[in-house]
Amino acid sequence: MKKYWSARIRDMVPYVPGEQPKDRVFIKLNTNENPYPPSPKALEALRQAADDRLRLYPDPECTQLRAAIAAAHGLSPEQVFPGNGSDEVLAFCFQAFFDPDRPVLFADITYTFYAVYAEYFGLTPRLIPLAGDFSLPVDPFCAGDAGGVVVANPNAPTGRAVDRADLIRILEANPQAVVLVDEAYIDFGGVSADALVDRYENLVVVRTLSKGHGLAGLRVGYALGHPHLMAALRCVRDSINSYTVDRAAQAAAAAAMEDAAYFEAQTAKVTATRDRAAERLRALGFAVTDSKANFLFVHHPRVAAKALLDGLRQRGILVRWFDQPRISDYLRITVGTDEEMEALYQAMKALTEE
Ligand SMILES: *Cc1c(COP(=O)(O)O)cnc(C)c1O
Repeated sequence: MKKYWSARIRDMVPYVPGEQPKDRVFIKLNTNENPYPPSPKALEALRQAADDRLRLYPDPECTQLRAAIAAAHGLSPEQVFPGNGSDEVLAFCFQAFFDPDRPVLFADITYTFYAVYAEYFGLTPRLIPLAGDFSLPVDPFCAGDAGGVVVANPNAPTGRAVDRADLIRILEANPQAVVLVDEAYIDFGGVSADALVDRYENLVVVRTLSKGHGLAGLRVGYALGHPHLMAALRCVRDSINSYTVDRAAQAAAAAAMEDAAYFEAQTAKVTATRDRAAERLRALGFAVTDSKANFLFVHHPRVAAKALLDGLRQRGILVRWFDQPRISDYLRITVGTDEEMEALYQAMKALTEE
């Protein structure tokens, strides 16, 4: 019954997040969470922040957190905008930088939230088909008429990284538009565009602590870009909710950003497990894309992806399947611990040899 729903949302098809099961214990390889816990220093900062200061609003400038993020990227705090998860930061970017009268370009196979935001904010998406090997074609992004460009690097759900030279071509071909680079998975082997922020005033890099830092439950993400662009994001935020990052999240996220050694050790474990798991699945006959993310994107020549999805679920393993053109015969498998990937391998072996 949508009688009282606004016209704006009546026909909306919202984003569908991956399942968070409550009924039984699964091996959860479906939402790209980190299998390892966050930095102990982040947890300690979280505990320290949980005191009577919670009666006060948090610092709307996120001063300490912005300083920690800026230091980690070799940028200045004026080039940093933190938010309540990078999904929120992306939503603010769509509102801050794009208008309905010019198209917003993104790939046909990418993070499905971009299409949801485009619809919700009344924008005009132009879908650019990925090549057959899921690589990003550059020319269609360089027509010069874009009102905005959104690129996930590495892309989701394919895991494929974008060449830095290609990104630079897209930035230079679109001086009239903001180019958003969503680096949710950059911590697992891609090359960040963070250093390009000083060179290109139309570049916004969006990052999250959800994947690499193992803090999906904390909800902290951020944008990097020219101070004028960050001011536009503050304008959007302060028209909706000035306090998007709570006091405890600011403290914990700052501590996580400062603990570079822990972060690098955990992400290195994930990438090593990923590369081993990819090899083993290839040996079972799977086609596995060259993923630079914390997930694998796989296809089996004989067994349908939906059958594998259901068979894995029966064996207590959750993975993600997208009922979408071009990729409905692929599964996206989050990289877990070595033990979890062993269980996945054994289940895949049984399902493909049946
Ligand atoms: C997970 C993900 C995000 C969202 O991350 P949050 O910071 O948890 O909101 C953004 N973009 C892509 C491509 C993702 O996969």
